[in-house]
Amino acid sequence: MAQRVAPDGGNKKTSRVRVAVRLRPYMSKQDKKDEGPCVRGLDSQNLEIINWRNATETVKYHFDVFHGEQTTQQEVFLSSVKPILPHILNGQNASVFAYGPTGAGKTHTMLGTSEQPGVIPRAVREVFNLVKAKDEDEGWDYSIGMSYLEIYNEKVLDLLSPGSQDLPIREDKDKNILIPGLTHTPISSFSEFDKHFVPASLNRTTASTKLNQRSSRSHAILLIKVVRTQRAFPHRQQTGKLYLVDLAGSEDNRRTGNQGIRLKESGAINLSLFTLSKVVDSLNSGTAVRVPYRDSKLTRLLQDSLGGSAHSVMITNIAPEYKYYFDTFSALNFAAKSKLIVNKPFIRETVAVPVLPVKRSREDHEAGGSGT
Ligand code: ADP
Ligand code: MG
Repeated sequence: MAQRVAPDGGNKKTSRVRVAVRLRPYMSKQDKKDEGPCVRGLDSQNLEIINWRNATETVKYHFDVFHGEQTTQQEVFLSSVKPILPHILNGQNASVFAYGPTGAGKTHTMLGTSEQPGVIPRAVREVFNLVKAKDEDEGWDYSIGMSYLEIYNEKVLDLLSPGSQDLPIREDKDKNILIPGLTHTPISSFSEFDKHFVPASLNRTTASTKLNQRSSRSHAILLIKVVRTQRAFPHRQQTGKLYLVDLAGSEDNRRTGNQGIRLKESGAINLSLFTLSKVVDSLNSGTAVRVPYRDSKLTRLLQDSLGGSAHSVMITNIAPEYKYYFDTFSALNFAAKSKLIVNKPFIRETVAVPVLPVKRSREDHEAGGSGT
């Protein structure tokens, strides 16, 4: 993949955020009107969506990677996440985040199910494998630890210590971002990870079942930290951080008519997501004078792991049903490297319904089509 060279010759290290888009399968139960999909993949980097301004046009988008509806969890992991993991054993930082409207597949992508595990369990297993495969002779000892937190209403909450208060985000003299007071638990195997992670995830979801909104309104952030220490003098130590983030839903809550307290929440969520989009934009355009990390908790926390020398991937999840149309459109506009309006009707190959004996509606349709 061609890497964009920063206009200043790369002297200010701002690595691009790789952008992948994942389209989940069409679900007819999500689409009572049975209108069929409004978006479809073209190849491994391009997709098209109907242009609402003009139904005879489609808008074609180009990304680093496009994962179509048939893509497996394994394929998403192998192509978008696995390649960046070796860096965290070398003291570098990385982040993977799932973006997109509620219902489009962020949690499926990040967490998945026991039958179809997502990015989080696969990445954690892989980190343990990488550490195990390290050559004794290289002379480093490795230790792995985890933290798990949530940003909700611009508050930082420790998911490994339920009931904790809003935690501060600080920066040390080496520009590392840290959260004093955040639980950090050493883990020595995947099952030990699971033992801490599963109840904490359940905490998060049960606390929110009465308003399932919470899980769609908060950013869930898993941190895996790998510290390696040189066995011989001078015992150098390096820390690599991996952030795995299931972001709040990107839907526009003003449009869905939320009010009062929830509107306030939406505002705060939109602040973090809006700032994230500005940060990603300025990193990817390579022209940033100032990357606005400090404007929200989410971007402040990710500051040392997004852009700079960090390795970052954003997986934008989208859904094919019409009811998601405007949220899909805005997610794509955020994610796309480029877009193009194509003047041709959207061909609905997926709605090849058998011809029924009643012909009337079909004739009506044809007559209507030629008359105007
Ligand atoms: P989000 O976290 O973005 O709100 P979810 O991950 O909860 O969305 O997905 C919404 C629904 O769609 C869930 O029932 C989920 O199992 C299903 N789903 C999402 N992505 C896929 C996929 N790639 N394949 C099959 N089912 C999916
Ligand atoms: Mg979710």
